[in-house]
Amino acid sequence: TSHRPFNFAPGPATLPEPVLRQVAAEMLDWQGSGMSVMEMSHRGKEFISIYERAEADLRELLAVPANFRILFMQGGGLGENAFLPLNLSRGGKVDVVVTGSWSRKSAAEARRYADVQVAADIGSGHSIPGDWALRGDAAYVHVCTNETIDGIEFHELPRLTHGVPLVIDCSSHLLSRPIDWSLVGLAFGGAQKNIGPAGLTMVFVRDDLLGHALDICPSAFNYETVAAAQSMFNTPPTFAIYVAGLVFQWVKGFEYGGRQGLAAIEQRNIDKAALLYAALDASGLYENRVDASCRSRMNVPFFLRDEKLNDAFLAAAKAAGLLQLKGHKSVGGMRASIYNAMPLEGVQALVDFLKDFEARHG
Ligand code: PMP
Repeated sequence: TSHRPFNFAPGPATLPEPVLRQVAAEMLDWQGSGMSVMEMSHRGKEFISIYERAEADLRELLAVPANFRILFMQGGGLGENAFLPLNLSRGGKVDVVVTGSWSRKSAAEARRYADVQVAADIGSGHSIPGDWALRGDAAYVHVCTNETIDGIEFHELPRLTHGVPLVIDCSSHLLSRPIDWSLVGLAFGGAQKNIGPAGLTMVFVRDDLLGHALDICPSAFNYETVAAAQSMFNTPPTFAIYVAGLVFQWVKGFEYGGRQGLAAIEQRNIDKAALLYAALDASGLYENRVDASCRSRMNVPFFLRDEKLNDAFLAAAKAAGLLQLKGHKSVGGMRASIYNAMPLEGVQALVDFLKDFEARHG
């Protein structure tokens, strides 16, 4: 029923069309309240009901255990790069595994507050390095489980055996698959990929990691303070939380391949990624360089072997209704981000376009 183009943006990114339609329908009057959600007090009963349902649905979808708090914050992934060491490092040691651009940034930011060691570094390689140099007395180990720019994903979370909490930046694959909480101390991610509008950051933090913030940590970004106030220490990003809540309801009802909910979303993500990588690998014009063991299901960077065709490729893609395929400026080339809300038909349309463009230019 949709005539909208397929949008492969890395974030802010495509959202489920039924959610956008509901937001539009409720824009002037949310459920008979006479108010837009944007106009409501965050402490009023209307918004509290929106907030509580969103949190409960997110907890259910990701099977978040009772000893984890879910915080709805602001400041994004880059903000968290500072809030993490401010809250967790106690001014001590932090080990960071560098697998791409985002974890490299995280290491650099944490260095302002903590004694940071890069435990392993992918460098210019294309697979997750083994042999991590981890310190037993580190406050936490930081890993980016999906590198949005480089297209590198941990298909399984690392199992740290030295008793140090694992912190994951899961910004760009949050809610695309389940999370094994037994392996995680803290997880964070911005909403603007799989979940909703920019401006909302979700933090999932294990109880025992609260209460260790440095004195210089801003109160509004002190996890214990935010947790104690049910994410209402300051005004939360109410509209983004509302849209995220609608996306959670959409995921809960999502059906695919005989499954429902997050399992259905995950299966469709697996199928979409397989379809796209197979097309890239079969071609003589396009190339994805990431090792098959860690290819991202969400962000698929690829290069045209003849880079002179880049501009023609992007123009033709746009004309074919395939938007925002340009790669990150730091790496060039192309990138197709195929988050939860991207239908299989969108990936099929991209694959058809890739073949057609190659036939004309290859
Ligand atoms: N980490 C990852 C993995 C990301 O993809 C991004 C954003 N693309 C960030 C951190 C930074 O997020 P923000 O721009 O919301 O600060």
